[in-house]
Amino acid sequence: MRQGLESAAGAFMKRAMTRIAYVNGRYLPRSAANVSIDDRASYFGDGVYEVCLVSGGRLIDEARHMARLGRSLEATRIGWPVTRDALAKILREIIDRNRVSHGIVYLQISRGVARRDHAFPPPDVAPSLVVTARPLAKTRNATLAATGIAVISVPDIRWGRVDIKTISLLPNVLAKQAAIDEGARDAWFVDRDGNVTEGASANAWIVTAAGTVVTRPADHAILRGVTRTVLFEAIKALGLTVEERPFALAEAYAAREAFATSATQIVVPVVRIDGRPIGDGKPGPVATALGRAFHQFAEQG
Ligand code: PLP
Repeated sequence: MRQGLESAAGAFMKRAMTRIAYVNGRYLPRSAANVSIDDRASYFGDGVYEVCLVSGGRLIDEARHMARLGRSLEATRIGWPVTRDALAKILREIIDRNRVSHGIVYLQISRGVARRDHAFPPPDVAPSLVVTARPLAKTRNATLAATGIAVISVPDIRWGRVDIKTISLLPNVLAKQAAIDEGARDAWFVDRDGNVTEGASANAWIVTAAGTVVTRPADHAILRGVTRTVLFEAIKALGLTVEERPFALAEAYAAREAFATSATQIVVPVVRIDGRPIGDGKPGPVATALGRAFHQFAEQG
C-alpha cells in the first residue's frame, strides 16, 4: 500500500515536472514558465480568462467559450493577443503536449507588461497570453454528483460587471475560503435584495416544490456560464419548466432541490445551504438527470 502511495506520488511529481505551459509565444516546462512582475495581471488583475473542460482529449463547448472570451476582451478593451485560429491551435497543442485526456485548459489574457500606471499602456504594448492544461480525476465529478455539496451564503460584495470573466476575483477567493472554513465546498452570493446571484465559481439553480427549475437572469450581476447556457437545452429536452428570475435565499432554503453548474463540474447537487438540508438533503432527481444529459447537448471540439 505504502509503496503504491509512493509510486503515485512519484508519478504526480514527474507529471508536474514535465507539464508544459504556453507563455507569450513559447511552450515551456511549467517550472520555467514565468510572466513579468510588470504584467498588469499581477498589478491590477487587469485581464480576462476562460476555463474549458477537456473530455476524451477534446475541448467541450469551445465555440461558446471563445465567444465569451471575445465579449470579455471587448468589454475590457483588451486586444486579441493572437488570432482566434492561432489560439485554437495553441489550445490543442497544450492539450496534446500535456497529454490531457480528461481535464481542463486555462487561458488568461492580460493587458500586457508595462510600468505600473492605472491608465492603459501605450498601444504598442501587446496583451499577454498564458495557457495551461491539467488532468482532472475522472471520478471526481461522479463523486460530487453522488454526494452533493454544502454551500454557505455570503453577501455579494463584487463590482457591477461580474458578467465579464475577469481575473480580478478577490471577493470570490474570500467567499470560497469562508465556505471551506465553515466545512462547506462553495459560497453562494446574495445581493442587497436578498436574492442569490451565483456561486463563487459556478451558477446557482433551484427546483421549486412545483418542479420548476429557476436560475437568475444573465444580467450584469452574474457570469453567463457556458454550462448554464447549454443546460437550458437539456432542461427543454427533459420536458422541464424553467424560469429565469431572481430567487431569494429563503426560497432556496425551501427548494425541493438546488444545484450549481460550471464547466469543470457540470452539474453539482447542492444538498445543504447554511447548514440547512435542501429537500431531503440528498442529490435530487432533476440535478442528477440534468448532469447525466448534459454531454448530449454540449459541443465536442
Ligand atoms: N459564475 C462564476 C463566478 C464562475 O467563475 C463560473 C466559472 O468559472 C461560472 C459562473 C460558470 O461558468 P461556466 O459554466 O462557463 O464554467
